[in-house]
Amino acid sequence: MAVAFYNHARIYQRRKAEIDAAIFGVLESGRLDWGDNVPAFEAEFAAYVGGAHAVTVNSGTAALKIALLALGIGPGDEVITVSNTDIGTISAIHFTGATSVWVDIDPQTLCMNVDQAEAAITPRTRAILPVDMFGHPASLVELTALARAKGLAIVEDACLALGAEIDGRKIGTFADVTCFSFAPTKHLGSIGSGGACVVGDASLADRIRKISSYGQDRARHRAIGATPPPLHHETEGLNERMDEIQAAVLRVKLTDVPASLDARNRQAALYAAAFGDVTKVPTVRPGMRHAFRNYVIHHDARDELREGLRRRGIGTALSYAPPMHLQPIYADKDLREGALLVTERSCSRLLGLPIGPHLDDSEIAEVADAVRAEAMSLR
Ligand SMILES: *Cc1c(COP(=O)(O)O)cnc(C)c1O
Repeated sequence: MAVAFYNHARIYQRRKAEIDAAIFGVLESGRLDWGDNVPAFEAEFAAYVGGAHAVTVNSGTAALKIALLALGIGPGDEVITVSNTDIGTISAIHFTGATSVWVDIDPQTLCMNVDQAEAAITPRTRAILPVDMFGHPASLVELTALARAKGLAIVEDACLALGAEIDGRKIGTFADVTCFSFAPTKHLGSIGSGGACVVGDASLADRIRKISSYGQDRARHRAIGATPPPLHHETEGLNERMDEIQAAVLRVKLTDVPASLDARNRQAALYAAAFGDVTKVPTVRPGMRHAFRNYVIHHDARDELREGLRRRGIGTALSYAPPMHLQPIYADKDLREGALLVTERSCSRLLGLPIGPHLDDSEIAEVADAVRAEAMSLR
């Protein structure tokens, strides 16, 4: 039996009738743009994470970029972040004109090292941008306190952490802006691309909404009909908003998120119990709830282990490796191998195993048995 890393078709089949109805409902309404699904999904999503305002955009990358733009970050500014992440995190910073400043990670959580973030602050620093890596919350209480003390903004990349919690409080209410992705492989997957910014401050939310929608108030677009109002652009405007079909489908799929988070945590516990001493398993800090978008183990003979699993038909991923500071595009930043030792060590040894609601417990057991057998043979 083969175990796929992802299986979108299986997830679709479970809610096919409702997803089809959502899609055809938009098509039949004729309201392809500026309809009711986007604002309704925003309200439902904000309620789920417990945030005051959710503004949808068309990707996680757009969420990060527009959050930074709305905070006024641009050329000459520095944003402190990590290197073990999606390129979207880094490109979002650079497309504003700002510079990314990479710091190392905590070896247990694989999230931003708070002391290093503090040490990296300069007079040019404008924001700290932690990533909740693989679904484990970054040290947001400490980082938010640091940002407040230094007068910096905090923008969180929570693209891997929907539903994660710190002391019973969901990710989404800690940072100035918390950014989510609805890429098909994330916890809440669209059927194309999508993202959202969750924001506490109403005027910041308004700016994000305008920048992502041609620099105009959304009400002006929604009023399009017999007699559209005159153009009235209050900010620079991108066209990076969410479309009605994605929002309609996401409204259906949002209701699956709590059960799928439970499934991910149950699967992670099955893996941890099965692996015992054959491999290091993910840490979960006390008081935190891991969202387990990825289940990542570390092994010295990672590539051999991966090849052994491939031969058994088990899909794996080199999740967010090699790190961004070692990518060709950033060679001119002169951060060579050895600059971020904890990040590099993790990225050279990590292996992402299949996890998620598309899998049943027997498939998790099969992966676990295969990992044990391959790891034993590599001893
Ligand atoms: C997926 C992801 C992004 C980018 O999201 P897109 O929706 O693919 O643009 C950014 N950061 C992290 C950590 C991600 O996992």
